[in-house]
Order: sequence, then structure tokens, then C-alpha cells
Amino acid sequence: MIDSSKRTKVVVVGGGFAGIEVIRHLAKSSLPLDITLISNNPFFQYYPSLYRLVVGATVNHVSIPLTAIVPKHVNLNIDTYTGIDQTRQCIILKSGAEISYDYLVMALGSEPNYFGIDGMETHSKSFLSIDKAVALNTYFLDLITQAKTMSKEEAAMKLHTIIVGAGPSGVELAGVLGTYLVQQAKKQGIDPALIKVDLLDSGARVLPAIPEKASALVAAQLQKKGVTLYTNYGVNACDEHCVIAADKNLDAGGKPKNSEPVHMEAGTIIWTAGTKISTAFNTIPNITMTDRKRVQVSSTLTLPSDDKIFIAGDGSGTLYSGLAQTAIDQGKYIARAIEQKIAGKVVNPYIPQPGIFVIPVGKGWAILNKKQFVSSGHAAWLIRILVDGNYFLSITSPQHVLNMLKN
Ligand SMILES: Cc1cc2nc3c(=O)[nH]c(=O)nc-3n(C[C@H](O)[C@H](O)[C@H](O)COP(=O)(O)OP(=O)(O)OC[C@H]3O[C@@H](n4cnc5c(N)ncnc54)[C@H](O)[C@@H]3O)c2cc1C
Repeated sequence: MIDSSKRTKVVVVGGGFAGIEVIRHLAKSSLPLDITLISNNPFFQYYPSLYRLVVGATVNHVSIPLTAIVPKHVNLNIDTYTGIDQTRQCIILKSGAEISYDYLVMALGSEPNYFGIDGMETHSKSFLSIDKAVALNTYFLDLITQAKTMSKEEAAMKLHTIIVGAGPSGVELAGVLGTYLVQQAKKQGIDPALIKVDLLDSGARVLPAIPEKASALVAAQLQKKGVTLYTNYGVNACDEHCVIAADKNLDAGGKPKNSEPVHMEAGTIIWTAGTKISTAFNTIPNITMTDRKRVQVSSTLTLPSDDKIFIAGDGSGTLYSGLAQTAIDQGKYIARAIEQKIAGKVVNPYIPQPGIFVIPVGKGWAILNKKQFVSSGHAAWLIRILVDGNYFLSITSPQHVLNMLKN
């Protein structure tokens, strides 16, 4: 137990879903705390809506300055974490500053993972950050302008997009991209029939994390939107305008339909198929990784070898890590656990909670799934809007949310 007559120093690294939740809850604590949030980004990025930037939404819809979230009595430090000294209980920042802690929460999130696929990182586009999503929107608008002067064959190739990865990000983008590009093409007097969007995945179905019947509904909705699905296509390589994939589909006799690699030409290749936890987690000495390549944690989300350090969000090796809902849930748990530790109380184990998936496919339609419950259509889409709005209201002022909506 820490001397409660002193202010306990709690340092949170990472201003994303998990980090903000820890801060929000600890900021309301009646205990004498000295709380610091360190983040390398002055904005909170709402990843579930990043795809909307690619189709023209404004940045204000998906990001909030940390200054509009973090209470005044919390120290906000925009800097990059680079290392840790566990013996001296301090972390080291890029600026050279050292920040000491009594409790440390590492909530560094994820980064793209290209699984070493030849050419993928160089030649594909991504929208896994605000800057990249905005750049992708600008790229598409420029492409459509340039297509006015192209031959029909060249325009057809350049206006063909392959999205690799049929998880939530790939599905959400595929659900809106075609419609948006058709609108833009019409504005520029380009034949909208030249727009083509394919969604490709190495798995047997879209959204493998939800039940098969829900996945089938999503596939049908995507096809209605004109998206061509290629499932069981494992991408092996990529260059600027071509994806090379192994077609793992079998014919009626159980033999591979295609024994040769398939070359799929496209003007734009977008990678959404993988993330891995931030490489900054590797700076912590003696951590071990789980089978799913997340940091091994104790039953109370601390490092097994150091109960002053909590691992939160995508980095932590728990059952449902990799979801915003899990990061929020863990943030809440960790804030409470820190208070309990300071008060010398027993900390009960963290119990992972399954999330609810609400994934929109185009405007006005979404799939909702919790365990075996599945619902789809307009009501599910409205629920997603409510979920997003409710989350924003939980972290910032109603006035700020109103301004986001106006923008
Ligand atoms: C495109 C996309 C769509 C998604 N859609 C959904 C969805 O619909 N539903 C869902 O539940 N989940 C979704 N997710 C997953 C969800 O966003 C993550 O699970 C969640 O963000 C994890 O929270 P976190 O706090 O661990 O990390 P993050 O929210 O990523 O926060 C990490 C923070 O750490 C900061 N940081 C990183 N490195 C450093 C450093 N060295 N020093 C200082 N600060 C640092 C970052 O700037 C960031 O602020 C999506 C993810 C992506 C990428």
C-alpha cells in the first residue's frame, strides 16, 4: 500500500480508448492523485469512423482534441514514450523528459501489420490514421479528375479498387466507397460504370468474428452495393497496380479451382487486413507475449512481474482485446484497481466481456450482433449512431458534440 498522505503519481501513456477511460474515472477520484496523460497525438482518434473520412467526412467528425476531454487537474503532456526504467519507476520521453510514477498504465494501441507480404506496405494504401484517411480521400478526388483525360480502358483500370481484408474496417469502407466514387464520377461527367470495388479476404467469409448467418447478410448487402467479393483468396504479393493471390476455393470435386496464382489488376489497393500491437510495448524489459502476440498480463491486468504497471487496450493479452469496447472496459477496471490498491483493498480479477458488433454497410443499414443474437437493417444502423454519439457524450461536453454534429 502506498502512503495515502502523499499524492500518488499515476501516469497513463496513450490518449486512446483505454487511456482516456482510465483518466476520466481517476479524475473523479476522491483520493489524492497526481495524474498525467502522455500521448504522442494531441487528438483522440475515433477509429471506428475513420472510413468515413475516405468518403469525404470532415476530421471533426472523428477526432476530438485531448484538451476538450482531459479535465483541467490532469497534466496533459504531448510527447512520445520511448522507454522505461522499472527500478527507478520512471518512463523516458522523446523530448528527454523523465516522468516518475507510482502506477503506470501503458495503453499504446496498435499499428498496421503487413505480415511481410511482398510489396504490400510500399504499394497499398491505408486509412488507419486520420492523416492517411484524409490523404486517401484527396487521392480519390484527384484520380477522378485525372480520369477525365484517360482512355476508357485506362480509366476502367485506374477506377478499380481492391480492398484487402473483410474485417470490420474493410467491410465498412467497401459499403460506402463505390457509392461515393460513383457520385464523384457523375459530377465530373465520367461514366459511373467504370467504378469498381472488390473486397478480398483469405478467409472463407466476411466478418469471421460474427455468426455465419450474420456474415451472409453482410455479404448480400455488400453485393447489393455492387461490391464483388473474393473470399478464400490469400494475398501473397502486391505491386503498384496488381495483387497476386492464391485462390483457395475448391471445385465440386474438392480440387483447387486455380492452381496458378491469380493476378488481379487495380488502380488502387487498400490494406485493412491486419494490425499488431504497438512496437513501443517491446521497450518494456522481460515482457512475454501471448499466442495472439499481445502482452501477457496477470488476472488484474498488470505485468506478471511488476504489479505497478498495467497494460490496457489492444496491448493486453485478454480474451476480447483488439476492440474499442474492450479497451474502454479495461480502462474502467484499471482506474478502479488503482484506487483499490492505494486504499489497500483486494483487487478482484478482470473478467473479459464480449462486445457488441454494430457494423454499418452503406448509409442506412448495419448488422448488429451480440453472441448468437443478430439483427440487421435500419434500426441497427440507428443504434450505431446512438452508440457513437453516446460515447462522444461520455468523454466530452454536450456543446462539443453539438459542434461536431454541426460540422
Ligand atoms: C480503422 C479501425 C476501425 C475500428 N473499428 C472498430 C469498431 O467498429 N469497433 C471496435 O470495438 N473497435 C474498432 N477498432 C479497434 C479499436 O479502435 C481499438 O481496439 C482501440 O482503439 C484500442 O484502444 P487502445 O486504447 O488500446 O489504443 P488506441 O485507441 O489506438 O490509443 C493508443 C494511443 O496511444 C498513443 N501512442 C501510441 N504510441 C505512443 C507513444 N510511443 N508515446 C505516446 N503515445 C503513444 C496513440 O497516439 C493513441 O492516442 C477499429 C480500429 C481501426 C484501426
